[in-house]
Order: sequence, then C-alpha cells, then structure tokens
Amino acid sequence: MDNPVLYIVVPCYNEEEVLPITAPMFLAELNDLAGKGKIAPDSRVLFVNDGSGDRTWEIISTLAGQDEHFLGISQSRNRGHQNAVLAGLMEAKDRCDITISIDCDGQDDITAMERMVDAYHQGCEVVYGVRSSRETDTFFKRFTAESFYKLMNRMGAEVVYNHADYRLVSSRVLQEFRNYKEVNIFLRGMFPLVGFPSTSVPYERAERIAGKSHYPLKKMLALAFDGITSLSVKPIRFITGLGIVAALFGFIGVIWAIVETILGNTVAGWSSIICVVCFMGGIQLISLGIIGEYIGKIYLETKVRPRYIISERTWTDVDEKKD
Ligand code: UDP
Ligand code: MG
Repeated sequence: MDNPVLYIVVPCYNEEEVLPITAPMFLAELNDLAGKGKIAPDSRVLFVNDGSGDRTWEIISTLAGQDEHFLGISQSRNRGHQNAVLAGLMEAKDRCDITISIDCDGQDDITAMERMVDAYHQGCEVVYGVRSSRETDTFFKRFTAESFYKLMNRMGAEVVYNHADYRLVSSRVLQEFRNYKEVNIFLRGMFPLVGFPSTSVPYERAERIAGKSHYPLKKMLALAFDGITSLSVKPIRFITGLGIVAALFGFIGVIWAIVETILGNTVAGWSSIICVVCFMGGIQLISLGIIGEYIGKIYLETKVRPRYIISERTWTDVDEKKD
C-alpha cells in the first residue's frame, strides 16, 4: 500500500494570536510523519477560516503563499465549529486518503497524530482522540464538559466519552458520510453511526497556547441540545412515558373522587371536575407524546440518511463496468 495522503483539517475562528504559533507545529508534524514514511510527502494542512472578524484569513493566505503544504478555505460567514470542520472534511475528501481534524489552539496534543496514523495502518478507518485527563481545564470547564457527555448519553445520543473533534477519518468513510445530508450536525455523534473499524487514541489535553476559548457555556449547551435532538427521539419518548404515568395517577384520582362522593365528603360538582381534570390531563400528555413520536419519525425521514452502507463486496467494480 502506498503511503496515504493526509490532510490535517483545522477550523479557525478569530485565531490571529495562536495561528502563527501552531501553524509551524502542524507543518513540523506533517514533515516528521512524511520523513518516517508513514504518510505521503504531498500531504497538506487545510485551514478553514470560519468567518473570522480579525486577521485570521490574512495569516492563512500568507502561510499558503509561503509553503505549498499550507492550504486554506474560508466560509462566507461564521457558521460555528461543526460546520467549519465539515466544510474542511468535504473539501479534503476527494484529494486525500485520510484526514485528521484538530483545533488550532494547540490544546490537542499534535504528537498523537502519529499514533492515529499507526492505527490507520493497522486497519482502522476512524480513530477517535480521547482526552486522558482534564487536569489543565478549570474545575468549571471540567464539570460542565463531563456533565455534557453524561447528559448526551442519557438522552440517547451516544458519543465517545471525552472525545471532542480531534479525530482521524479515512476518505472512504467521508465518501459515505457525504450521504448524511442533515443540517443539524453533531460530528462526534455521527461518525459512530457510519460504522467501519474504529479505535481510540488517548492524549493529554493542554491549555490554550494563546487567545481565548470560543466555547462558553451557552455555546456548549446549544451544542448538547443539537446533539441530542439530531441523534435521538428520547426526549419525545420521555413525554409519552410521562403521559402514561400521569394517566395512571389520573385513574387513581378518578377512583378516589368516586370513593369520596360515596362517603359523602364532597361538595356537589367536585368529583366530576376532578375526574375530568385527572383523566384529560393524562390523555392529553399521552396524545402529545404519540403525536411527538410521529413528528420525530418525520424529522428523521426528512434527513434522508442512508439506510445501509456496504463496506465490502465479493466482486470488484472492474467486473461490473464492462458496458
Ligand atoms: N471555532 C470555529 N468556529 C467557531 C468557534 C470556534 O471554527 O464559531 C474553532 C476555533 O478556532 C478552534 C476550535 O473551533 O480551533 C475550538 O474552539 P475553542 O478552542 O475556542 O473551544 P474550546 O477548546 O475552548 O472548547
Ligand atoms: Mg480550544
């Protein structure tokens, strides 16, 4: 097998402070891997400018002019981290064999790329970078981030624990991933859906080299909500469950109201009102849940996700294309 062409995909949003420091680090890693014969020499670093308001795009353009290993694309406006990564991956998929997406702030250990590429050579098509510790994060960031993963899993959006978007993905997987046409994207929860052999590589998460985080609590909550609602209908199931429980209590309430009437402890009209309230409350919640189920199905259908993905065949395309 020829050495694979690697594209390192780096989303950048207002990163003028950190980019001049980390860009040479990516290049050095690329050259190192090529020198060791693990990747092809014509591998590239692809920066995705996510509609930055500062000098980020200028820096990227200058880098691209200085060294052919640097490439850049720019989004027309700020669309957020996930869309920036997706744009980079889609741009790269036809030009390379493997991609590694990584943040540009130096927080993710760049040297873990070698272990990711090794895993690819051993047959893995997706390699998740997993943070082995969060000691350098503040208590607040660590707490919120860990709650994030727990909440996601409880709500039915299965994500690899402590994996952000530092990940190796082969172009073969990306070709299939292209068929996931949804607009709400949550990459780390979607790649496991595509399948193919995968593994994890642990790495230490460092502090940001320069600049400041663009993921405040508000954005993290938005990401979690997007993740849950684009991967699962569990919240709707939850309403249905709630409806069933409410209906049960409603039923008990009805019996209670009748018993109270028989015992003569009530004012006229009380029991009929209580019966109706309890009964209707339960019925309404169940109905809402069922309608929700259908809306959930419609929602999943409108995504037009691929229904199956073939990873191997006993014949090759050469036999087939003899027309
Ligand atoms: N980023 C982006 N668009 C945004 C926000 C962030 O492309 O709207 C990029 C950013 O430049 C960085 C990566 O996403 O490369 C992760 O962001 P950040 O380091 O601010 O998040 P944190 O590591 O604090 O969670
Ligand atoms: Mg960061």
